[in-house]
Amino acid sequence: AKALGRDGVILFNRALANRVERKLLIEQSLHLALKENNLEIYFQPQMDMNQQLVGCEVLSRWEDPEFGVICPNEFIPIAESTGVIIELGEYILDRSLKTFQEWLSKGVEIKQFSINISVRQLFYMGFVNKVDQLMQKYLDEKDRHKIVFEITESVLAEDITKVTKILSELKAIGISLSMDDFGTGYSSLNYLRTLNVDELKIDKTFIDHFNDSDTDQVMVTTIIAIAQNFGLKVVIEGVETQEQFDLLAIYDCFAYQGFYFSKPLSQKEFEKNYLTL
Ligand code: C2E
Ligand code: CA
Ligand code: CA
Ligand code: CA
Repeated sequence: AKALGRDGVILFNRALANRVERKLLIEQSLHLALKENNLEIYFQPQMDMNQQLVGCEVLSRWEDPEFGVICPNEFIPIAESTGVIIELGEYILDRSLKTFQEWLSKGVEIKQFSINISVRQLFYMGFVNKVDQLMQKYLDEKDRHKIVFEITESVLAEDITKVTKILSELKAIGISLSMDDFGTGYSSLNYLRTLNVDELKIDKTFIDHFNDSDTDQVMVTTIIAIAQNFGLKVVIEGVETQEQFDLLAIYDCFAYQGFYFSKPLSQKEFEKNYLTL
């Protein structure tokens, strides 16, 4: 038993060492990935209750020649903790707005184009100016409200006066705001008003058991009712099955998103499957 225990410890240490090593490698390679254009943007469609395309969410992918595809759940937190997220976020924003501008110029009529923005990015001095520059570079004034910034609910754990100020500056430029992962953490209904958000994105965890959990059904339908009463758009994320979609479609939410419709697609695939260019 003793030997086993020791093995266990050794194994654990090795696993930990591997993890630390991988994290270090990722940290070191992120800069290079940016320089060598190994970061890609993918697009996941957002559909209305009639399964018509209303918008899409931009999701980043890192295709490393050595490590293969690395998911944002792994590299975004590292980018945030090292500060690379500033450079990375700017790159993604530029690429995204440029792509959206191309689509608009070819007559694409989707209602919104959503981009994830991390809290660290939001608080970076000069962020609003940068966004303003890019918006002016790529988009006509009439199209700017179609850009949605998805901000996770965790932003509410930060200095709320500061958050309110930055978000209202973004709104003044024409950006629409979505509260991402809604229901998982810090929200108070009052903040929804003061922060002037346009959309709530109900977190996937509530959808996973929507079919068979009474509490999740009450949660989701209550959030939808409140949001609709406040005049907020509702987007349901993580819709994976026909059954989930059928049960949720009756609420006529602004959009539904998930593997049931499509996984995030490369630009080429998204254009082929969803846009007529
Ligand atoms: P998120 O914003 O909550 O995005 C939804 C995630 O769920 C995406 O994972 C998406 O691929 C996945 N997903 C969508 N539909 C389904 C479904 O039906 N079932 C399941 N199981 N998953 C589904 P992804 O692309 O791996 O991104 C993970 C997280 O990384 C995102 O969560 C977001 O917080 C962050 N992220 C991704 N791209 C960016 C980015 O460009 N900037 C920032 N700051 N964060 C990003
Ligand atoms: Ca999101
Ligand atoms: Ca989300
Ligand atoms: Ca989520």
